[in-house]
Amino acid sequence: MDIGEIKKEILSKSNLKELDAAHKKYLGKNGSLNVELKALKDLPPDERKAKAPELQRLKREIDAAVVERAGYLKRKEIESSLESEIIDITAPGVKIEMGHIHPLTKVQDRMNEIFTSLGFEIVEGPEVETEWYNFDALNIPEDHPARDMWDTFWLAPENRESETKNQNLLLRTHTSPVQIRYMETHHSPLRIITSGRVFRHEASDASHDIQFHQLEGLMVDKNITVANFKAVIGEFLKGLFAGKVQTRLRPAYFPFVEPGFEVMMSCANCDAKGCPVCSKTGWLEVMGAGMVHPNVFKAVGYDVNEVQGFAFGIGIDRIAMMKYKIDDIRLFYGGDLKFLRQF
Ligand SMILES: [Zn+2]
Repeated sequence: MDIGEIKKEILSKSNLKELDAAHKKYLGKNGSLNVELKALKDLPPDERKAKAPELQRLKREIDAAVVERAGYLKRKEIESSLESEIIDITAPGVKIEMGHIHPLTKVQDRMNEIFTSLGFEIVEGPEVETEWYNFDALNIPEDHPARDMWDTFWLAPENRESETKNQNLLLRTHTSPVQIRYMETHHSPLRIITSGRVFRHEASDASHDIQFHQLEGLMVDKNITVANFKAVIGEFLKGLFAGKVQTRLRPAYFPFVEPGFEVMMSCANCDAKGCPVCSKTGWLEVMGAGMVHPNVFKAVGYDVNEVQGFAFGIGIDRIAMMKYKIDDIRLFYGGDLKFLRQF
């Protein structure tokens, strides 16, 4: 056995697996050197004494060469893995994107803030309503022409046979049913607002969609008049548009109020001078309102001789469109980040 050749062989191995095979070739269970070492014990003592030291030296040298080569190969492996994991600390970082509040939620939050500062409590109601809460209790009986103003999505009942009258399910067309639900379980005096999604079965365009958001308000007490309403709503609009907006009421028909009116606000865009936003009139319609109809109070068991109240409904989308000068309601629901990132 030429130790020089063996060392050369060991040094030529370029990975640990090959190196291990080379080691086994000489010193494995059936390795050539190992076999010779094992055979020593069968030799006559003199021969054994003469041969043993030479074989032991060979074994030590092979072991040492393998250990040295293994160390070298491991170092190389670590170095190359470090190279591939190298981090350029001068490279620009990956920007973490922060989410933010949707413009509609922003406006809704601000409205809640103003009304709670005026002593209104925030209440909630379901988006799936019964025909009774959405229509009948609000003085819109079956076959009343006013129902045509609020075409909606009806939900297929599970069992048509056992249906009680006017318990058909629908997607609420306005937030007004929450008034009924609240008054059924609470006594006057009360001051509440509620807001959320409402639905209409209609073709969508720049100013109409099948869903939009409403904020509803109700105040009931012994001597509530239109003057109270005007004061509350004036404060609200001033707070919302951070300026000296003026309000005026214009008669209008809504089945659940008497008298009913539309609230007009002086155009915040042009300071009531006239611009395209307000169709050059200086005024914008921002909500429907009125004094609660006696039939609504009767539906919830209130004594109509004892209490009075006002109610109003504001389209949150429309207010947001005015506030941010957005010309298409559908942009709110499109999920287009190019649009949403502007707010
Ligand atoms: Zn204007």
